Amino acid sequence: MNNKEFKKRVNHFFKVEGIDSLSILDDEPEPFFSKNYCHCCKNQLAGDRYSCNGYNSKTKEIQENYEVCQDCIQYIYNNILPVKN
Ligand SMILES: [Zn+2]
Repeated sequence: MNNKEFKKRVNHFFKVEGIDSLSILDDEPEPFFSKNYCHCCKNQLAGDRYSCNGYNSKTKEIQENYEVCQDCIQYIYNNILPVKN
């Protein structure tokens, strides 16, 4: 997946879920191994996932149970894209 496609998927995820932010759960800061796809970029490769929640400013509610890969975390937290040019 290239960066353009990656960004598109992440933006799509935020839009579909209606969330403004995504955060790693404070009580589960360590990643776990999963064979499930990343909820955010839909990456299907098995690998580390972080348990995350998101804030929906419209409903003013926290939405939970997202499993998010390292690439998405790097992008959302540090604005670092997965493919290095
Ligand atoms: Zn991802």
